[in-house]
Amino acid sequence: MNILFTASECVPFVKTGGLADVVGSLAPVLAKAGHDVRVMLPLYTAIAQDYQHQMQFVLSFDVQLGWRRQYCGVLMLKKDGVTYYFLDNKYYFGRPYIYGLGGDEYERYGFFCRAVLNALPLLEFRPDVLHAHDWQSGMVPALLKIQYAHLPFYSGIRSLFTIHNLQYQGIFGIREVQDVLGLGDGLWSSDKLECYGCANFMKAGLVYSDAISTVSPSYAEEITTAYFGERLDGLIRARKDTLYGVLNGIDVEEYDPATDRLIYQNYTAEDLSGKAENKRRLQEELGLKVDADVPLIAMVGRLTNQKGLDLVDRVLPDMMSENAQLAVLGMGDAHYTNLFSWAEGHYKGQLAARFAMDHALAHKLYAGADFFLMPSLFEPCGLSQLISMRYGTVPIVRETGGLRDTVLSYNEYNGDGNGFTFFNYNAHDMLVVIRRALHYFRSDPAVLTSLRKRGMAGDFSWTHSAKDYEAIYQKLTGKV
Ligand code: ADP
Repeated sequence: MNILFTASECVPFVKTGGLADVVGSLAPVLAKAGHDVRVMLPLYTAIAQDYQHQMQFVLSFDVQLGWRRQYCGVLMLKKDGVTYYFLDNKYYFGRPYIYGLGGDEYERYGFFCRAVLNALPLLEFRPDVLHAHDWQSGMVPALLKIQYAHLPFYSGIRSLFTIHNLQYQGIFGIREVQDVLGLGDGLWSSDKLECYGCANFMKAGLVYSDAISTVSPSYAEEITTAYFGERLDGLIRARKDTLYGVLNGIDVEEYDPATDRLIYQNYTAEDLSGKAENKRRLQEELGLKVDADVPLIAMVGRLTNQKGLDLVDRVLPDMMSENAQLAVLGMGDAHYTNLFSWAEGHYKGQLAARFAMDHALAHKLYAGADFFLMPSLFEPCGLSQLISMRYGTVPIVRETGGLRDTVLSYNEYNGDGNGFTFFNYNAHDMLVVIRRALHYFRSDPAVLTSLRKRGMAGDFSWTHSAKDYEAIYQKLTGKV
């Protein structure tokens, strides 16, 4: 099959979160299965020069956006069997940030979505399936169906829209979006593009794609309810017959403690001594007290309310009184960076916080910590808990979305489980479970070792999920 991915980020080129990991690791697996997989991304300044030098110019064309005529260059890079196209427009993407600050996101990603569709015949690539990811690509299936599907080249192209996080929808004024994409007044009713008086790129993707998926079976269930549905649950319920939940995998080659070059020392499930050395060096690097007997809890992720940081905020002194160490790596809301920078000074040698996008340090944390804390308010899938298990770091998570689908709480009666979990979004429930985990660390390390080994033996590769996506593509196209 010819498969086109469109997304706003993709490893190894540009990443702010899990979306990049998913696009960048799923595409090569599908290519390996024999499909012609191509990925279209914006050419951001943030993409490393190294990669930019490897790109080849293919062609350029003009994109009509209302009264604007904007240049679009297409650059190409082939890697691991996948063809990556980068859509170049310096005005939109030659900025020192990836998302947000300019207030013209509708125009940047409106341009991107239109350029994706216009580029296809020029590249002579006709996808069987157009697989669009998250709101930045939401207008691709919508424009395809509304403005392109009647043209011979595009007719019959089927679309799949994947929600990686329903919280981010791309909500803008209708007039502004009309001004860029020229979608007539007749399209702005609530069964089409209008959404609570606004334009909403996510909704556009949900209404006009042929099928919808999200990144875990539990989250697929959850978003049909008002609590998780972010005001789109009615629409999602209406589309339930074409809604799929496919669990993300991780790149098991990149995240492999036996070969990872970013960590201090390699190790395997059979010989965990290297993990102890990683902990020692990590404590040293972060200015934590170097002590193998003090349990080290790590958190890596965006510092937003989604990640359950309000629970940590609520019981931080209690956590610290347990004589455990906490290491936090993330970027995000000032509320949480203020909290953790204060706490780093207050709990000197016991708490360390770094506010950067630091790929290497993230690997060191996954390898060096004893526990990985992820008490999310909601979690579409979550990759961090999978990565931590792969490194023998035991996850402590809240039972929601993909966390619920991947972490099973330790059962002291039959020995089942690969981590520790709690259900209610309640700080003291989290604290009790942290205490339970620390109890095993101190009093029953054999349990912890078996949890570490079980985590490391888990299959978090794309093997199963890539097949699930193939099955959806087959269903959509009737092709094998
Ligand atoms: P989300 O997509 O909601 O941000 P995920 O758990 O699905 O969360 O994926 C987050 C990914 O981004 C993981 O690979 C994690 O290691 C990485 N990550 C998040 N914040 C940072 C950071 N500050 N530095 C390095 N890696 C980070």
